[in-house]
Amino acid sequence: PQARPRPLVAGNWKMNGLKLSARVFASIAQGYDAALRKKLDILVCPPATLTVTFGVVAVGSGVAVGGQDCHVEAAGAHTGDISAVQLADAGATYVIVGHSERRADHGETDAVVRAKALAAREACLTPVVCVGETRAQRESGDALAIVRAQLAGSLPETADRHDLVVAYEPVWAIGTGLTAMPPQVAEVHAAIRDVLTARYGDEGAAIRILYGGSVKPDNAFDLLSVANVDGALVGGASLDAADFLAIAEYY
Ligand code: PGA
Repeated sequence: PQARPRPLVAGNWKMNGLKLSARVFASIAQGYDAALRKKLDILVCPPATLTVTFGVVAVGSGVAVGGQDCHVEAAGAHTGDISAVQLADAGATYVIVGHSERRADHGETDAVVRAKALAAREACLTPVVCVGETRAQRESGDALAIVRAQLAGSLPETADRHDLVVAYEPVWAIGTGLTAMPPQVAEVHAAIRDVLTARYGDEGAAIRILYGGSVKPDNAFDLLSVANVDGALVGGASLDAADFLAIAEYY
């Protein structure tokens, strides 16, 4: 039997954080002690303005820093955008792509998300590819079909455990305080695992699948103990060092 993937607890700060927030990040880095380092990886994805600062604070701590999005191209005339190469240059080692807020606010399609995942890998960043159904899709019984279609369109052709992370984030659970019930999470994560092993063989069994959507210290146990949940993508609760570390302490 395959060993379980090494867990990853990732924080998505979204459009939150100022220079002063380096103190919060420093607390996270300090809390990621030898005992936690043995058990799991920790990643924080601050707004791009803080990538360099957090990267400097992270030195020696083992905490990874990531981006929240990247452009499909490495450089060029794209005002306001940031490339994967630039994120890597700033110290990032991961980048979230296809977050539902990007899909909704910026009209990102599965094809764009896949191109971003490929651009990330070109720059030696590990993409965290996000998928998840809306409330209406869940209520009409289409959640699994939607997630499978998003995976089919968004995932790269090839991948291994080191160069891909998938995050399942039901849109209706993001920032709402609602979380999916463990059996719902189990069903979707099992379906994602099937897609990954069908596509990538043995490596697909080792690729991390994160759950995201209102993960908090008090529900971390219920969510992280579900089969095929290899960590969490944490929004709001990652802005508080104690809460974020309390989620990681599940492991
Ligand atoms: P939330 O966000 O934990 O605040 O629900 C999760 C996410 O969008 O990644």
